[in-house]
Amino acid sequence: MNPAQLERLSEHLAKLRLFKSQERLEALLQHAAAQEMPYADFLEQVLAEEVAAKASKNVSMRTVMARLPFVKPLETFDFGYQPSIDKKQVQSLASCHFIEHGENVLVLGPPGVGKTHLAVALGLKAIASGYRVLFTTAANLISILTKAHAEGRLEEKLKVFTTPRLLIIDEIGYLPIDRLGANLFFQLISRRYERGPMILTSNQSFAAWGDVFGDRVIATAILDRLLHHAVTLNIRGNSYRLKEKLKAGLVRPEETQS
Ligand code: ADP
Ligand code: MG
Repeated sequence: MNPAQLERLSEHLAKLRLFKSQERLEALLQHAAAQEMPYADFLEQVLAEEVAAKASKNVSMRTVMARLPFVKPLETFDFGYQPSIDKKQVQSLASCHFIEHGENVLVLGPPGVGKTHLAVALGLKAIASGYRVLFTTAANLISILTKAHAEGRLEEKLKVFTTPRLLIIDEIGYLPIDRLGANLFFQLISRRYERGPMILTSNQSFAAWGDVFGDRVIATAILDRLLHHAVTLNIRGNSYRLKEKLKAGLVRPEETQS
C-alpha cells in the first residue's frame, strides 16, 4: 500500500471527523484486499463501523450528562423478587412511548424496593432511544433552586431542569421541604407540565405529600399536574437490600416493613 496515499486518506478522514475509520483504515483496507471485497461491501463496512462508533459515543456522552447515581439496566432488575410490580407495564414503559406522549411515571414504595433502580433503568432506555435525560434528587433540586432564587438566577436554573427531555426526580419525601422549596418545586412542575415528561420516586403515599411539602394546597396543586397524564407504580414488598439477610433467615419479612 502506498504510504503517501494512506497518509492523505488518514488526513481526509480526520478533517471529516471520521475518527473510527481513520483508526481502522489500514486494517480495513488489508481485510478488503485479502477478501477481494466488492467496492460497495467495503464502503458499507467502513460507514457502518463509523456510524456504530458515533452512536455509542453519543450514548456514553448522554449517560454522563444524565448524572445517574449508578448505571444499572432494566435487564438486571429481578422482577421475581418484587411481584407487586407489573413486569409488562414496566417493559411497555421501557419502549419510551410515555416520553413521546408526555406522560409522567411515579414510582412509590418503601426504602430498598428498587425505585431508584427502575428510574435509572428507564432513564437508560430513554438515553438509548436518543433522548436527553437528567437525574436529580428532590433535595438536590430544591437546594439548587433555592440558592439560584437567592442569587437572582432562578430562570437560568429552571432552564437546566426544563431543557432535558426526561427529568428524573428521586427521593421525594425523605427530607422535609420548606415553604420556599415547595414553591420553587411547584414552579418547576408547572413549567414541565404538558411539555416534558418526568419520572418521580417517593417513599411516601400521595396522601402524605401534604406533610412532605408542608402545605396541603401546594401538594395538591403539584399532584394535580403530575397525575394528569401519569402512570403510577406502587411497589409493596421487601427491601432488596435485605434480600440476603432474609435468605439467611436473619430477619423475618414482617420486621422489614416500615
Ligand atoms: P429504593 O430507591 O427503592 O430505595 P434502590 O433502587 O436503591 O431502592 O435499590 C436498592 C439496591 O437494591 C440497589 O442496589 C438496587 O440495584 C437493588 N435492587 C432493588 N430491587 C432490585 C430488584 N428487584 N432486582 C435487582 N436489584 C434490585
Ligand atoms: Mg432510592
